[in-house]
This record gives sequence, structure tokens and C-alpha cells, in this order.
Amino acid sequence: MSDPAYDLVVVGAGPGGYVAAIRAAQLGLKTACVDKRAALGGTCLNVGCIPSKALLHSSERYEEAKAGLAKHGIRFSGLELDLGAMMAHKDKVVADLTKGVEFLLNKNKVDRIEGAASIAAPGEVVVSRNDGTADNLTTRHILIATGSEPSPLAGVEVDEKRIVSSTGALSLESVPEKLIVIGAGVIGLELGSVWSRLGSDVTVVEYLDHILPGMDREIGRQALRVFKRQGLEFQLSQKVTGASVGEQGCAPERRAGGGRRRRGARRGCRATGNRTPALHRRARARRTGVTADERGFIEVDHRFETRVPGIYAIGDCIPGPMLAHKAEDEGSICAEILAGQSGQIDHDRIPGVVYTWPEIASVGKTEEALKEQGVSYKVGNFPFSADSRARAVGDTDGFVKILADADTDRVLGVHIPWPFAGDLISEAVIAMEFGASAEDIARTCHAHPAMGEAVREAALAVAGRALHI
Ligand SMILES: Cc1cc2nc3c(=O)[nH]c(=O)nc-3n(C[C@H](O)[C@H](O)[C@H](O)COP(=O)(O)OP(=O)(O)OC[C@H]3O[C@@H](n4cnc5c(N)ncnc54)[C@H](O)[C@@H]3O)c2cc1C
Repeated sequence: MSDPAYDLVVVGAGPGGYVAAIRAAQLGLKTACVDKRAALGGTCLNVGCIPSKALLHSSERYEEAKAGLAKHGIRFSGLELDLGAMMAHKDKVVADLTKGVEFLLNKNKVDRIEGAASIAAPGEVVVSRNDGTADNLTTRHILIATGSEPSPLAGVEVDEKRIVSSTGALSLESVPEKLIVIGAGVIGLELGSVWSRLGSDVTVVEYLDHILPGMDREIGRQALRVFKRQGLEFQLSQKVTGASVGEQGCAPERRAGGGRRRRGARRGCRATGNRTPALHRRARARRTGVTADERGFIEVDHRFETRVPGIYAIGDCIPGPMLAHKAEDEGSICAEILAGQSGQIDHDRIPGVVYTWPEIASVGKTEEALKEQGVSYKVGNFPFSADSRARAVGDTDGFVKILADADTDRVLGVHIPWPFAGDLISEAVIAMEFGASAEDIARTCHAHPAMGEAVREAALAVAGRALHI
């Protein structure tokens, strides 16, 4: 039998797939990366992290100009929203970055192949092109990096006009008068914030009795207070069981905790929501013996290998946080393993950030998880109202919360609801990667005046000796 054409064929060019392909090529593996999308970068670049962050940033500037700068002595008159220009900026950011990925694949001599891939057998990938032609790629290893897609919600049919998924919510042509967001998770809160800042009357309906499921509950409570103050309305403990579209708009059907069914008419009702692993692609892979758990995530071992030798999977289509940087890290590690190196990923060291205002960043264990696991812990809290730089900037809502092991003082979790928390959290991630204790952070000199001083003070607070409160 002749040698396969490739050492590695990666299916999917999202942050997991394209990073894996680049790393594999750097390590000398002959690599191809297949994606059915014309633009590279997957969900993250095309309809996820990047367009949402562009809109979050633009809408934040608009909100700031409307209401946030007067306290700094800066006043505007005749302020106008040009939604078309805002969307054009977002589209340009996306286009530039997707071209950047193309450049990187070329630079690293990765063969980029456009088309829908299916796995015919271990070592064989069939790529069907839009023009009806197909290619058979032979390879030593296959990496499935097919990501995720918006979850269907029973009774709610997405038409991407009146009822939209997160993808449609990134490209609305006008600001809806009213907007109903289904789900108070990260994506719902980010997109709800965008449209609320731009003038929509936003209601967030959530099945649970709290927002931001999975995050530390104290942080969720603080965030809820701030979002309400910003004008977002919340209906918690409500299950959406359907949605209908009429002339006046659309109306979600909700079932309250007590079982009573209510109907509320809303004009311009939209849905955003959770994501699910790319199921139909998994089904194709299943013919080869690749298995998935009951939620549809592909089962892999600690080396990212599926039940079928030679077929690997990473990113959103396997268990773990559905985050771009998690997919990237898994992509790099998997490529290194295929090249004969070793590596592993620890989900407790993957930071998560909600890019609302304030940003909400966290890494490691929540207080609820520690209680559930019976771990005894100490808490250090420090409010930004006592941080000199935060006062100068004028953003004093929020705090740093550090959870440390009661016996060893090792940092187990850090949670920060605060406008620049997404950057501050990196310090906590590095500390935890190095197995730092709260004392280690407390004894590390931090520049003054800087936001990071609040992290140090929270570390001091773990031992009950914060200095500035
Ligand atoms: C609105 C929104 C905002 C988000 N914001 C953030 C954020 O701020 N930070 C963050 O970390 N994460 C964020 N995410 C999540 C992030 O986008 C994903 O975790 C990340 O993209 C997963 O990367 P991936 O490589 O596993 O898959 P994906 O990015 O989903 O890429 C998979 C690729 O595979 C391709 N593909 C699938 N099947 C086939 C096939 N059969 N043949 C060929 N190609 C195929 C798809 O076309 C796609 O390009 C956000 C997601 C959304 C929807």
C-alpha cells in the first residue's frame, strides 16, 4: 500500500483546528486543514468571539458617550447612532482576521482545502466541494475539530429574522424596539447588553433561578444587580416552551416554576442561546466507531484520541468549557502529542470571561464546587471601591474574590466582576499554573496605582490582613 498523502488531516478551521494544523506543520507533519466555510477561523472569528466583542466594544463606547463621560467633564450634543457603520466596522474586523488565518496557514505550508469533510474510514477523509466534485485524502491521523452550533430549542423555530440565534443577533439591520433573550448565560448576556445599550428594551428569560450558570453564585448576584441597574429586565425560573411570530412581533410561551403557563406579546422577539457539539458531523464520524456521550460530545482519552485509533478530537466537540482558548490549547497539545511529545490540559486552569460591563472573569473552583467537594477553604475579598486606580477611572463596582485551600493556602479559584477583569484574570491563571499560594500573590510587588493591586489586597485578605480596607 502506498504512503498516505498526509500525516494529519484536520477537519475544521476554527481556533482548535487551525492552531492544531499550524503547530503540527511547525513540528514537521505534512498537514491539511479542511473547512466547509470559505472564511477561516470557525465560529470564533466568523460568528462568535470576534464579532460579538467588536459590537460589545462599539456599543460600550456609545453608552459611555451617552451617559458615562459626563462625570469626567466631557459632554456631547447631537450624539447619533450609525448602526450601519458599527456593523461595517465589525465585518471588517472579522474579514481582516479570517484573512490573517489564511496567511498563517500558507506561511506554515498547511494545505487549506475548502469543502465538507466526512470520515470514510480511519486514514481516509472525503471532501465534497460546493461545485459537486469530491476529493479523497489519505492520512496517518485525523483530527476532528468541527466545533459546535446553536442548540435547537423545542418549540422555538429560528428564522434568523424575527427569531434569531446568536448568529442572527450579531447582524440585525435595525435596533429592535423590544428584544427577548432566552438564556442568561454568557452569550445571552453579552448580546442582550449590546442591544440594550443601542436602545432595545431587553428582557432576559432564564430557566434557572439565577444568572450565569456554572459561575460563582456571589459573582452572579452582583452582576444581576448591575445589569438590572443598566435597564435589563430579568425573568428567572421561567421555562420557554415555544414562540410564535405574528404581525405585532413574536411572543414566547413561558412556564413559570409553579407550572402556570403565561403568554406575553413582544414586538421583535429574538432568541439567543446555548451551543451544542456539531451533531450531524459526529453522526458521520460514528460510522467509523467514534463514540459520543449522551450530550453529543465526542469521547476522547487524555491524549484526545477517540475510541478509533488514529482519529482524534478537540475543541467544542469534546467535553469541557466551550471556549476558543480551550480549543486552541487542545489543538497545540494534540499536535505535539502526534509529533511524539507529551502534554495535557487542566480545565481548572482555563479562564472564562463574560465581556459585559462589568466584565466577569473567573478561573478555578467556585465556592459552590468547593462546598460540594467537601474542600475546606478560606476567602479573601477586596472591593474596587478601595482601589485608588479604580476610583480615578470612576469604576468602583466590583471586587476580587480569591478562594484558597484552608490548610495549604494554595489558590483554588479567583473570581472578578469588574470592567477590566478579563485582563486581570491572567495574573490569577499564571499564579495557579505555578501552584501559587495566596501568600505568594500577597508578597509579589504590584505597580501603583494599578488595578492589579486589588488582586494583591484580596490575597492579603485571605489571611485577614488586607491593608487598604
Ligand atoms: C456569540 C458567541 C460568542 C462567543 N464568545 C467567545 C469568547 O468571547 N471567548 C471564547 O473563548 N469563546 C467564545 N465563544 C465560543 C467559541 O467561539 C468556541 O468555543 C470556539 O469557536 C470553538 O472552537 P472550535 O475550533 O472547537 O470550533 P469552531 O470554531 O466551531 O470551528 C469549527 C469549524 O469546523 C467546520 N466544520 C464543521 N463540520 C465540518 C465538516 N464536516 N467539514 C468541514 N468543516 C467542518 C465549521 O465550518 C467551523 O468553521 C463564543 C461563541 C459564540 C457563538
